[in-house]
Amino acid sequence: MRILLIEDEPKIASFVCQGLRASGMTVEHIDNGMQGLQAVLLAQHDLVVLDIMLPGLNGFELLQKIRPIGIATPVIVLSAKTDLPDRLQGFDLGADDYLAKPFFIEELIARIRSLLGRNASHNEDIFSVAGITLNRLTRKADWQDHSAILSQREFMLLDYLMRSPGYIFSRKQILQHVWNFNFDPQTNVVDVCVQRIRKKLLSDKNSKSVFPIESIRGVGYRINLESTA
Ligand code: CA
Repeated sequence: MRILLIEDEPKIASFVCQGLRASGMTVEHIDNGMQGLQAVLLAQHDLVVLDIMLPGLNGFELLQKIRPIGIATPVIVLSAKTDLPDRLQGFDLGADDYLAKPFFIEELIARIRSLLGRNASHNEDIFSVAGITLNRLTRKADWQDHSAILSQREFMLLDYLMRSPGYIFSRKQILQHVWNFNFDPQTNVVDVCVQRIRKKLLSDKNSKSVFPIESIRGVGYRINLESTA
């Protein structure tokens, strides 16, 4: 994955570069808007991480220049501006996702993977990971000899985990993606939803197999790729 980071604060830039490189991504860093625009126009990156307040050309202006001419590279906006009008402006101008500073590097990595996974498999209505097959049109899930139609939330949760197999998602990330909660509602909705998926796909025959959604104690969930071995 080739990521372009456009960010003028050296500390944030070095923290993001280190984190992304440690997770196997290639990162090019540019610290101002005009050079950032030139790099985006070359369209040699899979995704752009874009700061808003930048010297030369700000992030919103950059989006305004690239989307109308058909540059569709996914963009995640990073900004200290957390109020709603700014977020909406970013989405209106064609940002694909938005992360407020300060953020955890794990969250940025998860969102990058989620966006790129979505792009890569955009036309795949049926896909399989770790023995689970998911149909995006019908929300039907198959595992071993069993199949079930999932509810919208169950489907979104399973789809989210399956797009980044092996990656551990925190309950907070799952809440944000599936329920759109930006706060912890102090409930166990995530755990209950995982239990429901498990129950739907378990039968008498496969009850001894290890179900591929693995609970990571105190953290969250992931698809365990070794569970089928
Ligand atoms: Ca800045």
